[in-house]
Amino acid sequence: MFEHDVLVIGAGLAGLRAALAANQAGADAAVITKVHPVRSHSNAAQGGINAALTDRGDTWEEHAFETVKGSDYLGDQDAIEVLCSEAGRAIIEQEHYGVIFSRDENGRLGTRNFGGQQRARTFFVADFTGQAMLHVMYEQLVKSGTRVYEEWFVTSLIVEDGRCQGVIAMDMMSGQLHVIKSGAVILAAGGLGRLYEPTTNALICTGDGMALAYRAGAPLMDMEMVQYHPTTLKSNGVLITEAARGEGAHLINANGERFMEKYAPNMMELASRDVVSRAEQTEINEGRGVDGCVLLDLRHLGREKIHERLQYINEVSMDFLGIDLAEQPVPVRPGMHYQMGGVKTDVDGATPLPGLYAAGECACVSVHGGNRLGANSLLDTIVFGRRSGEAAAIYSRETARADIPESRLSVDEDHIKELLGRQDNGDTPAAIRLELGTTMNDYVAVFRTVEGMQTALEKIRGLNERYGTVPVQDKGKVFNTNLIATLELGFMLECAETIVVSALERKESRGAHFMTEFPQRDDEKWLKHIMVSQSADGPKLDYVPVTITQWEPQVRSY
Ligand SMILES: Cc1cc2nc3c(=O)[nH]c(=O)nc-3n(C[C@H](O)[C@H](O)[C@H](O)COP(=O)(O)OP(=O)(O)OC[C@H]3O[C@@H](n4cnc5c(N)ncnc54)[C@H](O)[C@@H]3O)c2cc1C
Repeated sequence: MFEHDVLVIGAGLAGLRAALAANQAGADAAVITKVHPVRSHSNAAQGGINAALTDRGDTWEEHAFETVKGSDYLGDQDAIEVLCSEAGRAIIEQEHYGVIFSRDENGRLGTRNFGGQQRARTFFVADFTGQAMLHVMYEQLVKSGTRVYEEWFVTSLIVEDGRCQGVIAMDMMSGQLHVIKSGAVILAAGGLGRLYEPTTNALICTGDGMALAYRAGAPLMDMEMVQYHPTTLKSNGVLITEAARGEGAHLINANGERFMEKYAPNMMELASRDVVSRAEQTEINEGRGVDGCVLLDLRHLGREKIHERLQYINEVSMDFLGIDLAEQPVPVRPGMHYQMGGVKTDVDGATPLPGLYAAGECACVSVHGGNRLGANSLLDTIVFGRRSGEAAAIYSRETARADIPESRLSVDEDHIKELLGRQDNGDTPAAIRLELGTTMNDYVAVFRTVEGMQTALEKIRGLNERYGTVPVQDKGKVFNTNLIATLELGFMLECAETIVVSALERKESRGAHFMTEFPQRDDEKWLKHIMVSQSADGPKLDYVPVTITQWEPQVRSY
């Protein structure tokens, strides 16, 4: 049996920052991850990270207000105040750790415009900001001597005496299951993009963290709030960063019109993501699209700027569509990108289950509410990663640990034995996963209807039944990716049900959740979070009030 003070599940930016903080606070911290740390999805972040630095006349209050407005007033304002007031320090710290941020013409840290914000406050490393940050954080982790269980897969959380006290995990190299005991556990297991097909998210983003918490009895919150990014490639859902519009790219329809004039006359292409995605989808639905897309036009930016600041997306457009952004507009459409909801936490990452913390995309603090501002997620990972690492280290030091019975291991062992023992019935996890993805994308997308979501719920329950007998064809022990994919599919189906049940419950339109039957925001009835917990009768819903500190809800226009 292995044992640590603090065990962090996930080696993306949230996990690495949390582990480093716990280590710096004197705890024996360890990280467990199903892929090599720098293959975490944080690596794919392109556009940048927000912070209001006072040396350029910006204020954190302005950043906080725009985050509140972006969230369509569903974000908790006390948490948003923490996020934005700690942002400056977090950026400077990243710089000191070694992230080589792009500079402006005076040699200062450069900024670019991002959506939903009047000021340029997005710091960036060309269009591969996440990669630059993740590699630097990994260097820091290696330097700290923190143990990494690399290519280990967590199958469940251990709850003893009402507290989370460790995990059961599989060493994927040997297929062996182990107990890892820990004084505190931090979930930093990332998002659930792959519930949708297509998505901008990596194949590994399967909602494991949210499902692990849900099964262990910790509630999820704001799960209906799924962000569709306005600019993804039609062919495969690959992201074209918002930085393209931040640098000045235009969106045009089949008639060559900059259609955002109609929807957001002040902010145009840089309105909030939910607003731009709805505008695009309306243009497409009303027949002004181009082959199911709209066009993103960068030509007027010039080849030099594209090469200096947006080289990666130019490569992506060339590779997949043969389009040189300096010469031709690229077809784009809204695509699934980010989950605003997640495991409910306080501002120190603590979930309602003692001993369990969560940070990053799998958590819901809630700083993003109904709609996340671009470049606020990387910020979320490092601010709340650090805070949860510090809090978990203290909790672990002050709390006695229970004995974990050996029988705990056999629950997961028996489950896996049962999966491997199933007879081939012709069904595959890949087929169920694809059906789930298209169902979510058909019915739980930019525009939602009651009927569509009821259909989705029925389909998900049907897929769940098929999941109960789906065979694992590979019976081997070493790197059994067929088995891992089957376990991930179980997590995905669980998350999907919580999204649809929460979305059906919210009978209004707010942020990313637009219900055709209830097109208005309804503060009187729905200025509250929907929380969902597992129960014997299926998902159980509760409400939590939204924390308002200084910004009363207003009409939201851009
Ligand atoms: C293409 C793309 C571009 C983006 N661009 C930006 C941007 O410019 N700015 C911005 O602010 N945000 C951006 N985002 C969002 C942001 O990158 C993510 O929300 C954030 O990086 C998530 O970090 P994380 O640490 O929470 O999780 P991740 O980086 O996704 O890491 C999750 C970790 O959990 C581990 N894990 C998961 N399940 C298990 C399991 N069962 N057992 C063991 N380990 C497990 C994985 O191995 C991985 O290490 C982008 C997202 C995408 C997809």
